[in-house]
Amino acid sequence: MNNILLFGPQGSGKGTQGEKLAEQLNLPLVVTGNIFRHHMQEGTELGKLAKRFINKGELVPDEVTNRMIGERIQRADCEFGFILDGYPRNLDQAKALDGYTTITHLLHINISDEEAVQRIGNRRTCVENGHVYHLIYNPPKQEGVCDHDASELEQRADDSEEALKKRLAIYHDETEPLLEFYNQRNLVHDIDGEQSIDDVWKDVKSLF
Ligand code: ADP
Ligand code: ADP
Repeated sequence: MNNILLFGPQGSGKGTQGEKLAEQLNLPLVVTGNIFRHHMQEGTELGKLAKRFINKGELVPDEVTNRMIGERIQRADCEFGFILDGYPRNLDQAKALDGYTTITHLLHINISDEEAVQRIGNRRTCVENGHVYHLIYNPPKQEGVCDHDASELEQRADDSEEALKKRLAIYHDETEPLLEFYNQRNLVHDIDGEQSIDDVWKDVKSLF
């Protein structure tokens, strides 16, 4: 059983590496941000609620997020494990997650805030499934079009420099301290996220 957390600041490559790892291990990739964005596109009640927080770069309230993730990881496709990207982000969420399941690995991919700002400015994501590109380091084969599902590529509304600064601050204040919580269980694997995408992938792959 592999119940894996992808952990690290904005732009560290969680989405990029998560896509590869999900394929390699044949596990579902659960990306909280993508689930929220999907609800926003569909205009559901959850989407309307989430939008008020997401566009400001703030966290969606824990009660809502915990319930959504609990429901998702208890579905049948997570029976043999899952990869979680973007959750938990604070102590309340980490405790809620303990109530649902047992985590086996935390992959901490780390980069500096300067690198985060550079990468997020050039990030483009596909509107259909959130596949991730970088205009310079990981461009799509055809400009503006997703390699995987041919949907349009966009810059996320919350990838503005102002919203990113707020998200990074929340990461350092509320999320990063969780490393200690999981370190006490010896689950943390530190990975240097400032290597090339291929070299980060080698480090990730070597853990499984
Ligand atoms: P996260 O999910 O952690 O926010 P992403 O996987 O979305 O990070 O990556 C952020 C941006 O940086 C994307 O544009 C992605 O293509 C690019 N990127 C990811 N990993 C690397 C890397 N090792 N080197 C350079 N650019 C990268
Ligand atoms: P990033 O990690 O780059 O800030 P994500 O795509 O993971 O972006 O998430 C986008 C937004 O969705 C976050 O800024 C936040 O508003 C919301 N969100 C995602 N995951 C969580 C979470 N675990 N708890 C609360 N809000 C979340």
